Amino acid sequence: MNGSDSRRLLLFMWAVTAVATPLIALTAWQALTAASELRGQIVVVIALFSAVLVAGEMWPIPVTRGEEGGDEITVSSTFGFALLLVAPVFWTILAQSVALFIDCTVRGRLWHRLPFNIGQYALAFIASRAVYALVAGLPFTGSTTPGPPDLLAAIAGGMVFLMVNNGLVAVAVASRLGVRVWRMLTEDVSWQLMTSAPLLGLAPLAAQATLWTPVSVLLLLIPIVALHRSGHTAMAREQEALRDPLTGLANRTLLASATERALNTATGTTAMLLIDLDHFKDVNDTLGHAVGDELLVAVADRLREEVASGDLVVRLGGDEFVVLVRRCDSSTAAVDLAERLGAAISQPYRVQGVVLTVGCSVGIGLAPDHVDTVEGLLRCADVALYAAKATRGTCALYDRHTDQHSAALLGLQADLRAALEDVEDQQIHVVYQPQLDLRTNRVSAVECLVRWRHPELGNLLPDNFIPMAESTSLIDLLMRRVLDLSLAQIADWNRAGLELTLAVNLSARQLSDLTLPETVADALQRHGLTADRLLLEVTESRLMSDPERSIQILGRLQALGVGLSIDDFGTGYSSLAYLQRLAVDEIKIDKSFTLGLHEPGNAAIIRSTIELGHNLGLRVVAEGVEQRASADLLAEMGCDMLQGYYIGRPASASDLPALLPQTSRTPHQPMPHGRLIGLVSERDPLLAELTSPVPLTRAW
Ligand code: C2E
Ligand code: CA
Ligand code: CA
Repeated sequence: MNGSDSRRLLLFMWAVTAVATPLIALTAWQALTAASELRGQIVVVIALFSAVLVAGEMWPIPVTRGEEGGDEITVSSTFGFALLLVAPVFWTILAQSVALFIDCTVRGRLWHRLPFNIGQYALAFIASRAVYALVAGLPFTGSTTPGPPDLLAAIAGGMVFLMVNNGLVAVAVASRLGVRVWRMLTEDVSWQLMTSAPLLGLAPLAAQATLWTPVSVLLLLIPIVALHRSGHTAMAREQEALRDPLTGLANRTLLASATERALNTATGTTAMLLIDLDHFKDVNDTLGHAVGDELLVAVADRLREEVASGDLVVRLGGDEFVVLVRRCDSSTAAVDLAERLGAAISQPYRVQGVVLTVGCSVGIGLAPDHVDTVEGLLRCADVALYAAKATRGTCALYDRHTDQHSAALLGLQADLRAALEDVEDQQIHVVYQPQLDLRTNRVSAVECLVRWRHPELGNLLPDNFIPMAESTSLIDLLMRRVLDLSLAQIADWNRAGLELTLAVNLSARQLSDLTLPETVADALQRHGLTADRLLLEVTESRLMSDPERSIQILGRLQALGVGLSIDDFGTGYSSLAYLQRLAVDEIKIDKSFTLGLHEPGNAAIIRSTIELGHNLGLRVVAEGVEQRASADLLAEMGCDMLQGYYIGRPASASDLPALLPQTSRTPHQPMPHGRLIGLVSERDPLLAELTSPVPLTRAW
């Protein structure tokens, strides 16, 4: 709610109170002056109805409404209305006011709304009594000896009561939620006709019956108690159907109806934030489902804490959540919220004695800015989420341009298959990123990173197609292609006198492929290379998803003489016992730590990881070294090898050699401690034109 809305709401509430106060005073004066004339029976009826009215307010009947938490109806209006048919209207107003006051105290409701609520009921009861009196031809003030209620007049009076009472509330709620008043009213009319109106219909009967004998109130209470019970049962059922049992958040069904409602009633922007946890599967796979479930519950709690009261938090399933902001001021506000949610989620969790961190990506769709249907909004958020992941940002706003792009990405599978099945095709290629050995000051290895030069979509990074390839058998073809291209390149460089070791990434699926060792052995043989020139990079999480099988396959690869590196070290949950059993050669500290090296926590982690690696007899590589200062610090910490933009960006095979000496030669960019770099090979004819300006690397 923005400033002008809240001012309007306050003004309205005070206006209602101001109009009602003198009218209440008048009815009070009239009722009190006539009080002495009230007969005994009517006093009993007033007391009885007042008591039931208060009780009704205290024990509302839950009713389902397809929205979060459902709604409540009270029988207090029934008895209030019955009372005004037989006694001066002030007694009804008084009883209702007492009921509201007790409700406020007991339920801790907002006190500043109390005068408005009293005013609202008073106006509704007074208007209703006026119409009843008019139609029935009775005095407004009521008689001291009431006769049986007039049915037709009661219907007219009841309708007026509903109209005034709900109309006033609708205006207040509409300005609080920023929706159209008319919409609020029309939606409410059908709802009231089904719920409150039938209850109000009991009022003339209640009045008549109690005039006959006050004890009959007890009979009236029987159906009300039954209504209570069925209301509770229906509510519980609806909760089951609309809530996620694990987290208690709203589910997909409720999201659909709430979004529909928001789109129909909102006057401003509705935002849908789709949140996906990063690497949640790894937590489940490595630490078990109990920990995974507990983590999801903790994430749900953080989301609940972070959103405003009118926002709806939903678990779509798995590790996907949605926050529906029914009233969003601007796209900037949506992005701000997404960032806040991202920051809240990424704070560490303590789950079953383990400290975990989990990142997330958020995609944002806006209605009506981007789309105006429920499915459309979810799809926009989904497209934006995909974009957030592809750019590795925390959040992204939907953008039509990316949308076309992502639609095209769906057709990628067929294109990739075609590109891989044609041995002559050159769309799939490899770039090489140098790794500097701090012990020898030489670039001794390169990591090979796959790229796809797509004819229509342009250059694609691995994140755009590796997951898709991994979900099909294409990943095997891709791996063979990458291995072939890069081993051929290493052999080429070898012949030119440039001796480099090759690091190749393995994907999860390949770690359960029993034919992998054979594939690798064949490729090495084809290119006439010894196994010690090849290092396979495996991430911790991939390793841990089926450790026994992975150990078997990796053991066979090691028997060939191939090296093994644990990639993205520090982001997964591998146990040291496995590292030992696998006889790993190297760990690569994840770039998230290196990039945040200036933060004290990260520096401490890196320092102890290096120490740990060395104690286990492993080589320690830091990736993501972008700055001179980081390179210096890592060298000082005893890191063995460095990889990152500062050393060299991933470059095509033809650009790489020129890139190697550049790092050492540029005079205004001396390497730390004078330790770094000498030339890989000055004999290399490929490096002959070293003195010429170095071409900008073509990596992207
Ligand atoms: P990775 O193995 O962690 O590769 C390192 C990624 O960090 C590369 O992204 C690289 O370009 C980037 N990088 C290098 N230095 C820096 C730096 O100083 N700062 C920053 N911010 N980033 C740096 P890329 O090439 O997009 O690869 C992404 C991931 O795709 C790789 O992560 C790897 O897991 C996967 N991948 C790449 N090639 C292959 C492949 O041939 N097969 C398989 N299965 N996966 C691959
Ligand atoms: Ca890697
Ligand atoms: Ca890595």
